Amino acid sequence: MPYKNIDDVPLPPNPAAAPPPDEVIQTDVAIIGSGMGGGAMAYALKDSGAKVLVIERGHRLPAEPQNSDLDEVYLKGRYKNADTWFNGRTGESFKPGVYYWVGGNTKVYGACLPRFRASDFEETRHAEGISPAWPFSYADLEPYYTRAEKLFKVRGQIGEDPTEPSHSEAYPYPALDHEPAIQALADSLRSQGLHPFRMANGLDADTPEKRALCATSDGAPNEAGLKSDAEKVAIDPALEAGVALMTGAKVTRLVLGADGRTVVAALAERGGKLIRIEAATFILAAGAVNSAALLLRSATGEHPRGLANSSGLVGRNYMVHNSTFFIGINPFKLNRTLWQKTLGLNDWYEAGPSNPYPLGNLQMLGKLRASMLKMARAWVPNPILKAMSDRSIDIYLTTEDLPRRSNGVSVVDGKIHIWWEPNNLEPHAELVRRVRRAVRKAGYPVIFTERMGIETNSHQCGTAVAGRDPRTSVLNPDCRAHDLDNLWVVDSSYFPSSAALNPALTIAANALRVADTILAAGKDAVEVSTHGKQSAKSSPDRENLPDPRHAD
Ligand SMILES: Cc1cc2nc3c(=O)[nH]c(=O)nc-3n(C[C@H](O)[C@H](O)[C@H](O)COP(=O)(O)OP(=O)(O)OC[C@H]3O[C@@H](n4cnc5c(N)ncnc54)[C@H](O)[C@@H]3O)c2cc1C
Repeated sequence: MPYKNIDDVPLPPNPAAAPPPDEVIQTDVAIIGSGMGGGAMAYALKDSGAKVLVIERGHRLPAEPQNSDLDEVYLKGRYKNADTWFNGRTGESFKPGVYYWVGGNTKVYGACLPRFRASDFEETRHAEGISPAWPFSYADLEPYYTRAEKLFKVRGQIGEDPTEPSHSEAYPYPALDHEPAIQALADSLRSQGLHPFRMANGLDADTPEKRALCATSDGAPNEAGLKSDAEKVAIDPALEAGVALMTGAKVTRLVLGADGRTVVAALAERGGKLIRIEAATFILAAGAVNSAALLLRSATGEHPRGLANSSGLVGRNYMVHNSTFFIGINPFKLNRTLWQKTLGLNDWYEAGPSNPYPLGNLQMLGKLRASMLKMARAWVPNPILKAMSDRSIDIYLTTEDLPRRSNGVSVVDGKIHIWWEPNNLEPHAELVRRVRRAVRKAGYPVIFTERMGIETNSHQCGTAVAGRDPRTSVLNPDCRAHDLDNLWVVDSSYFPSSAALNPALTIAANALRVADTILAAGKDAVEVSTHGKQSAKSSPDRENLPDPRHAD
């Protein structure tokens, strides 16, 4: 029976005592999740001298020809392995846009890696309310953006986008050039007085040959290894330096010590066994929804609302962007672009003379193909979908959504429920209107748009916001739980606001920043001196569990 709103969801019953574990592992630092946040953290701690264990519920995603077979990827959902989530309001189930693999969502991401704008860190007035200030500034994060851009081999060019914040160093690699159809679009936008720019990207596609190998990599893995995903650039180098990785291990709860301020263990299910992982430092990076769900699932009689939740904000303020797929078609012209995701437009990102409130960002999709359209329009015959996608340019529009206590994550009978009432929609509609005009002028008279729904949550964030005041935030400015001495959260849960740009680089940069604060706290913060043995390091990277494509 669905509840009316998230506040009606009852507290979970007191959990039964966990059965004795089948295995106990001791380590200094336990990182839960190996995606953008967990991967960057593992990389940052790899030379610290601490014993670091990454615990990942997924497995290695196989590099195989099916990586670029779009029928396999989209129609058959070959790499979709997330559990079923539920719409809190309606009770309807859906398959979320999250992926449980070593590298997390970055295995399929489009590798568009912009920095947030300096204004995103400040309080900003939007059409429907305030986007709150972050507890650290762009200037605080800037050195870590630079490090993250090097780590993820980001290609870009400073000076093309008027909203680009200051960089202390140039991008490590030159921007990817547009292919002809996208160059023509850029030229037209420029002639309309706009400022298109080459989008920052972590794709090694600077020759036609390599670009052909990347043509399907937005939303799908890259078999050739040309995409800077977290597995390739962060986890694998961390393993080489001695960090350990346990795959196929789903953390189901965190265990609090007697002092009520220290996490002493994480319990994980792995291949039918219960593993207890003890550590001095716990770093949560399971993705904004799963991290919040884990804290909620770790409720005890003394902490019935879940761990780190004295503010009542764990799982609240869920944000995900207002986003629209926008397709412009010129029936008389083929678009032969392999990789479209080279162009961005931020002319209306911030408030300006023509828009009193921020509207958002325009970027391209990798390239829509018939199989992708088939998912949304199953009844349309394939030849029509192919004719459309052969002649379309494909755009992704995002507008900031605002944090609301009533939008969130709850766990009901062990299952994840998402409460989501989109807000700040009028500026999004205005962004769509402006882009429609501009794209028509650029020679694409037929336009289709579709606003994304609850299952498109690839930019999820905000479920454990960082802030200075423990009453209004879950984490302190260093992303350590206000309520706990040894738990940090470095996925997008900490975002106080969602900005309107792709989140991944900001997640990585912040993880590098947080790693520095942990390391600065010194040896005692990360090492457990009483641990005589460390079984984590000997844990195999890959286990002989069943079909590695199905982590659950
Ligand atoms: C199709 C798609 C395209 C995208 N394109 C872009 C893009 O171009 N640019 C961009 O910036 N962003 C993009 N994103 C979003 C980006 O991938 C995410 O913002 C980013 O990966 C989030 O990082 P994270 O560390 O918060 O979580 P993730 O990267 O999702 O990592 C979380 C990890 O935790 C693991 N995990 C979850 N629960 C548990 C548990 N209980 N126990 C153990 N492990 C657990 C998961 O398996 C996963 O590996 C895209 C996402 C998708 C799906």
